[in-house]
Amino acid sequence: MRAKVSDMHSKDCVKVAVRVRPFNKRERDAGSRCIISMVSSSITIQDPRDSQNRRSFCFDYAYWSHSGFTRDHRGIYVPEEPGGRYADQDSVFQDLGEGILENALQGYNATLLAYGQTGSGKSYSMMGYGPNKGLIPKLCDRLFQAIKENQENRQCQVFFSMLEIYNEQVVDLLSRASRTPGGLRVREEQQRGFYVEGLRTVPCETAAQVEQLMEQGTRTRTTAATHMNANSSRSHMLIILQLKQIFSKESITKQSNINLVDLAGSERQRSSGSEADRLKEGTAINLSLTTLGNVISSLADVAVGKKVVHIPYRDSALTKLLQSALGGNSRTVMIATLSPADICYEESLSTLRYAERAKRIQNRAVVNESPTERLVKELKAENARLLQRLSRLGQEGRRANDETKELRQLLTHNELQIRAIQTLWEQHVQEALKDWEQQYANITQERRMMQMHPYILNINEDAQLSGVVKLFIQEGEWDIGLCDSSPRSICIKGLGIQERHAVFRNEQRRVTLTPMTGTKVIVNGNPVSQATELQHLGVEFKLEIKNLALSDSKGHDLEKDIVVRVTSKGTKQTKQVWMWSKAKFINRKFLMEEVYQQHLAEQSGDNEVAELSTVTLPRDKDPFWDPIEPLLLGTAHLWLQSLAFRIPLEEQLEVLGSEGTEEGILQTQLVPCSSTGLPLGEDDILIDPSEILGRRLDFQLVLDQCCGLRWIREARNRGVQIGFRLFDCSQPLYTPAVWHNVNPLLDHRVHFASLHTSQRLLDFLQSSAVVLELWGLQEGCTQLKSSLEGVRMTADGIFIIDESSPTENTPVDPSDLSCSVRALQQDLDELKSVNESLRKENHNLREQLNTARNGGEGARSRSVRPSCDAEFARALKVFYHSMTSVRGQLQRLRRHRPSEESDLLGLRLFVDEQSHLLRDFSEQLEQSVSTLKQDVAAIVRRKRERSGIWS
Ligand code: ADP
Ligand code: MG
Repeated sequence: MRAKVSDMHSKDCVKVAVRVRPFNKRERDAGSRCIISMVSSSITIQDPRDSQNRRSFCFDYAYWSHSGFTRDHRGIYVPEEPGGRYADQDSVFQDLGEGILENALQGYNATLLAYGQTGSGKSYSMMGYGPNKGLIPKLCDRLFQAIKENQENRQCQVFFSMLEIYNEQVVDLLSRASRTPGGLRVREEQQRGFYVEGLRTVPCETAAQVEQLMEQGTRTRTTAATHMNANSSRSHMLIILQLKQIFSKESITKQSNINLVDLAGSERQRSSGSEADRLKEGTAINLSLTTLGNVISSLADVAVGKKVVHIPYRDSALTKLLQSALGGNSRTVMIATLSPADICYEESLSTLRYAERAKRIQNRAVVNESPTERLVKELKAENARLLQRLSRLGQEGRRANDETKELRQLLTHNELQIRAIQTLWEQHVQEALKDWEQQYANITQERRMMQMHPYILNINEDAQLSGVVKLFIQEGEWDIGLCDSSPRSICIKGLGIQERHAVFRNEQRRVTLTPMTGTKVIVNGNPVSQATELQHLGVEFKLEIKNLALSDSKGHDLEKDIVVRVTSKGTKQTKQVWMWSKAKFINRKFLMEEVYQQHLAEQSGDNEVAELSTVTLPRDKDPFWDPIEPLLLGTAHLWLQSLAFRIPLEEQLEVLGSEGTEEGILQTQLVPCSSTGLPLGEDDILIDPSEILGRRLDFQLVLDQCCGLRWIREARNRGVQIGFRLFDCSQPLYTPAVWHNVNPLLDHRVHFASLHTSQRLLDFLQSSAVVLELWGLQEGCTQLKSSLEGVRMTADGIFIIDESSPTENTPVDPSDLSCSVRALQQDLDELKSVNESLRKENHNLREQLNTARNGGEGARSRSVRPSCDAEFARALKVFYHSMTSVRGQLQRLRRHRPSEESDLLGLRLFVDEQSHLLRDFSEQLEQSVSTLKQDVAAIVRRKRERSGIWS
């Protein structure tokens, strides 16, 4: 078992963890060297200019998050191999988060601080990015889970607050009330210690609510930073979770504060003396961080026995609020984050020194518990006393109306108070609920706006604050600049921004940007001085279910999966389409984020760009740019059964898209033929397919024409190809491409031959289809070519199939077949036995004929077989033709599904339709079988009659 922070030491030393992140792009591009190494919990840093100069430190935890990781399908960074050394978010949480949670549940105050230079991974560890959730969200998840699991023993209340300290001003990130000048006041009380006066605390009952509040807080923070042109890396962010637990059986309450602190970038601490910074940010900017350093130093001195007169908690807002976390009543953990790069040596060394000092600090944490609902109990006791007095008064018969009245009033008052206390929490929750609903409505509204209108996003040096502010460009003309008085203006603040800086014009979603004279506007990295149309490369994504309506050559459903259809915006003619797997989509998303971060890094520091930018890249650098590939639009099934009887077939097939849409019609033929390609006649129809076993079978697959192609109708500059693969042919074959035509002629004919027809091929013909794939071509994409590698062909271009007959046959598993197909099989068996008896009869007839004619007119006897069999063959032909449509009906039935959003009424309609389809299906099936039976009966009757004549 892992040692938890809570049970590591009996003394409450501040626990320190160090984490080193991967190289970022800038460091990789600069060819950086990693100067940090770790062995268990000791960490060594090497001076890049002096290889002899190394320093080692030992901490409670050392996390190697620099290398040895991979991204899984959810986008989460995990160790490359199980048990690898890479420390992922989960393992950091296991060590640090679980301990904090346990402490809080036991009733201790707990504090988690993240310290390190800007960009070293503080926010990554604390909050996390995207699917890589950090300590705070994980902690909230687990906290509410623990609360749920222990509901019987205790009642829990969680209050959430979020604040920021910037320039010594305390800003409530959850309060929408206008900011008080100078920020909120930090006050001190004997019992509570330091606290923020008027800070909003929101009761929460789920982790999702906390997440929503954090999102809200981040938004406030971003808006403030953007408006004040402030550098968020110089602010401290604090989240305070207050946990109150009431154990009614034991009659105690426990209360603990969990402080989660994402500190300002440590690099600013030393530059705080610089004149430029002072001018820009005011003198107090880093007071909090500097004081924190001083407090930690003093406390470290205390720990080693030095005499320290004064610990300067009161010198800054941050240290006031962290007083109990440092040298007080709290169990505290610090995570110090490092860049691995040689160029960050100074900063990393200073972080390690700082962490080393923090490690020495000793706290005295105590469980904050008190008798449960003492107040309530006291009030109840008082009530009981009052009642007693009342009854005594009555007994004594004294006239004490006044006193009685007074006492009754007191009683009512007390009762009210009890009820008030009991309902206070519910009220809090109700209020918060209303708030959440409002927030939810706002978010929904924003999402809708994002779908309807183009918008600009902010970018910020701090990745956590990027993309938070959205400014919408609605139809019409919009001034952008400092001006916020006009109703048609978009207000931005920043250095170099003019009153009217530029004008956006949105005409039917075409947006142009026109700079005012003398202002600086940059589009895609190029300064512009006149009206410029803005192009949007963020393509359109649509989720689709792959193979929703498609089936394999046996008609079995194909495996379903999610795919993303990516369509580049543009005119009908320039639009392009890609199909991405889920994995590819997730990968691309990360690539995009990386590019965005990189872009951000390039922009940061350039204040005149005013935090506003859109990301557009040249194609070769655009991670979204993919070579254009042919897309599988849909498939059609051409059933092969008739070939087993050497019956020709002509079919108009519906090509179905992945989700069941009709993509076009395909005119096809299956033509049984001679080895030279001449079509066979009716006389060559086989009554018993097994006759072909071991013999040669030739046939042609003809693709005549496509009709009504949706793909081409959408954009004329496109083309199509048909691909197919027959039986054991090792490669798919493709028709030549046809372009620009909704109804293109294909006129494509392929001759196949099996030299010694095997049972396997025969089974395949009887039960399978050739799946014809419709491929969509776009401008600039390469066509699909039939690779003839491993394909056997004769000199005349005939494709040889059925070459390797495996020794064991693979029989069709009856359980695989649907009932209807099984019924067909039974009918077929019946037909076979009828056929068998007919053959016998036929044989008898021939013999009779031979004896009758005495062999003199033997030549005529040969004509009997074809004439009898031909009738039967014709009947079979009719039967298989009707079977094809029955199969089509069966496919339709299979595809027929209720829509996802169906309500009860919808489902009823669906069931109605379904039973209609079923009825049609069974009628058709019965019809074809009974026609066949009638035909056979007629043939048998006629034969009997004939044999009667002859006998
Ligand atoms: P800080 O908050 O210290 O300024 P961030 O947490 O925002 O820094 O990290 C800066 C960048 O580095 C972010 O893009 C983040 O995703 C990345 N990063 C930080 N730590 C890690 C890590 N352990 N693994 C992967 N990426 C990380
Ligand atoms: Mg950060």
